[in-house]
This record gives sequence, C-alpha cells and structure tokens, in this order.
Amino acid sequence: MQKWIVLSGIIVFLAFSCGDNQTSEEQVIIQDTVLPPPPVVEYGFTLDSFQVIRDTIEDNWTMSHMFAPYGVSQWHINIAAEKAADSLIGLRYVKEGDPFLILAEIGDTAKNVQYCVYPKNRVEYVIFDFTDSVFVEKKAKPHEETERMISGEIVQNSNLTFALDQQLKDINMTGEMAEYVAGVFAWTIDFFRLYPGDEFKVVYTEKSVDGEPYAIGGISSAWFKHQGHEFYAFKYSLDSTGTKIGFFNEEGKEMRRPFLMAPVQFSRISSGFSGRRFHPVQKRWKAHLGTDYAAPHGTPIWATANGTVIAASYTSGNGNYVKIKHDETYTTQYLHMSGFASGIKKGVFVEQGQVIGYVGSTGLATGPHVCYRFWKNGKQINHRAEKFPSSVPMEDSLLPDYMQYIQPIRARIDSMPVTPYIVDVEEGA
Ligand SMILES: [Zn+2]
Repeated sequence: MQKWIVLSGIIVFLAFSCGDNQTSEEQVIIQDTVLPPPPVVEYGFTLDSFQVIRDTIEDNWTMSHMFAPYGVSQWHINIAAEKAADSLIGLRYVKEGDPFLILAEIGDTAKNVQYCVYPKNRVEYVIFDFTDSVFVEKKAKPHEETERMISGEIVQNSNLTFALDQQLKDINMTGEMAEYVAGVFAWTIDFFRLYPGDEFKVVYTEKSVDGEPYAIGGISSAWFKHQGHEFYAFKYSLDSTGTKIGFFNEEGKEMRRPFLMAPVQFSRISSGFSGRRFHPVQKRWKAHLGTDYAAPHGTPIWATANGTVIAASYTSGNGNYVKIKHDETYTTQYLHMSGFASGIKKGVFVEQGQVIGYVGSTGLATGPHVCYRFWKNGKQINHRAEKFPSSVPMEDSLLPDYMQYIQPIRARIDSMPVTPYIVDVEEGA
C-alpha cells in the first residue's frame, strides 16, 4: 500500500517535470531569435556597464602608481595598500608586468576608478572597491578538479623531484606532489636513500582553471617500490564524518609511525652516523654520532615525533639547537639551526611534523645542514638502522569494508604501467 503511494508520487512528479521541460524548450527557441549577444562578464563584472581601462604594472611601481592617475587620493591609496597587505588577502607588493583592470563610470572623462581588479595569480584576484570609501576583497575563479595518475622511476643520479618534473613540467606542482608523496611515505621510506630501480605510481587530484592545471589538490592512493619492496598507501576515513582520515597500507595498518624518517624535506645526507670520521672543521678524527642532512639555509626542520622540548638553546659547538624528549626511551636533537620557530622553548609540547626551527650553519658547521641526533635509553644510536614499532592495525570490524574499498583501487594501480625516466643524452656524447 505504502509502496503504491510512493510510486504514484514519482509518476506525478515525472509528469510535471516533463511538462516543465517542454515549456523551457519553447522559451529557448523564442530567446534565440530575439536576444542580443550575451554581455561580457570578467571577474564577476559586466564590462558593458563600465568604461574599461587595461593597464600593466611597470618597474618599481607601488599602488600609488596604479591608483593616483585614476583619481584616488593618497589617503585612500594608503588605506587600500594597508587592507591589501592583510594576511587574508596577502597582496603586499604589485609585480612588474602584472596586468590590472580599472573600471570607471561610462562617460567619466576624468576616469575616476570605481573598481580595480588585480590578479594575484592564475586563480585568485583582488578587487579594490572605491565606490564608497575603500573596500578590498580577495576572490577566486571557479576551478575544476580532475582525478589523474602519475608514475615514474628513479635512475642513477636522479631523484623523486626530477622524475616528477619530467611529467608535470611545472615547478610548483612538482614541489607540491613531492611533498604529498614524501608525506604519505615519510614513515616507511627513507627518501635520502632512494635507489635506481625504485618506482612509484600516484593517484591524485589536479586543480585547473580554464583547462590549465595549476595545483595538486591532494593524493588519494599511491604505490612505491623501494629496493624491491612494494608499499601501498590508501587514503581512508575510519568514520562517516571524515574526521578520522589517514593513509593505510594494503593490510589496513596506518602509514603513520612513531618517528618520521628524517627531520627535513628530502635533500641530501652530507655525513652519516659513524663511530669515526674526519671532522671537517676541527680537522681531526672523531665519532659522528648523528646524521647530517644538507638543506638550503632556512629550510624548515620538523620534530620527528611528538614530545616535549627539553632544550632550545645555544652552544659554540651545537649552535642553535633543540632537544626533544619523546618518551622514557627516545630523545632527539637538532643542531646548527639559523633560528627557532616561534613559540619553541623549553617545556613546550610539539607534535610530529611541527616546524621547530630552520636550517642554518651556527656552531661548528661548514655549510647549512641539520645534524640530527638520536638517543635510545640514554645511548646515541643510528636512527636509520633502528627498527621502530609498526603502528597498530585498524580494528577487525572495520577491515572487511576497507579491503573491499581498496580492491578496485589497487587493481587499477597494479595495471598501470610505470612511465620510464627519460635520460638526457647530449648530442655527440
Ligand atoms: Zn652532524
């Protein structure tokens, strides 16, 4: 009985919606013959309603150069510049070569600006509204998100960034992708020790505007073959609200581990842990009870695990350094920092991956690097040789759903061929 009511309701609804469609089709036909061409809309403004002036920022211009010729007082220019510099808008400088749009009232021979549009990048733009005092806001063009796959291999004298760059061909997107991939596998793979023959495949979201890709939206699954071992990572939410979201492997174990493999974004190990090495500054043989990661000056340094800062200080040997106690067993230390991240001081609790300072060369150091030191039960150890406890598997009750979810994704990843690395060969070589 109830089923019938629902069903007849649907039939009535369908009948009505068919009728609606017919009406609108008729309307379209009438409009085709009567309406003038559609108005030109740019950045949300109907350009036909304004006097439009297109201008370009020249060398050493400030906002005064932009607005003064269009009737804005210095007082209002200062307000506009101050509002644009706000962190929510983030427009502190105008760049030479950037185009901007001035909209004035039609027939206004003085061309007093009503609105100005300044594109911050390919997607975001800033609107200056001078119609009533000064109002500044940031807007973004609508963008599309497309799911894509990328794959590659590591060859001799290459790395993840080179392999990604060959395909993405955009330095910003390559950087974003490298960070996402390294982020997912940060607990599993030592990106300072990739080997020729290592391979990867990634399913990701590409953001584009007007058909042009401009950013990586995120990655949803990935595979990395490292020294013959295969690692899978699938993004999965443990609850329906999507708050308990994380990356899990093919067995349902979370990728996150107690310690990150390294305290900086992958660059280069300049000196490994050893019982004996020739000290480059002191010019004598001594033990090196740490791992040196060379990285550009100012590179953020991460806490490799949750813990409490027990020192954020300076000595002539260590330079600026931070020491973190993670639990009763493990303590880590980070040396030669150019400076500490804001708020980092003794007694502060830090989370895994939190920026605690920046790479520098303070203390006994020849070049910018972070010397990472690791204690286990009070004894300095080589963290890269340490086997850390793996994470807890997800609850048994959740496992069947998870396995069902990843099965087609894994099949898709497995069937995808790996794009070979193209080695540049110089002519005549
Ligand atoms: Zn060192």
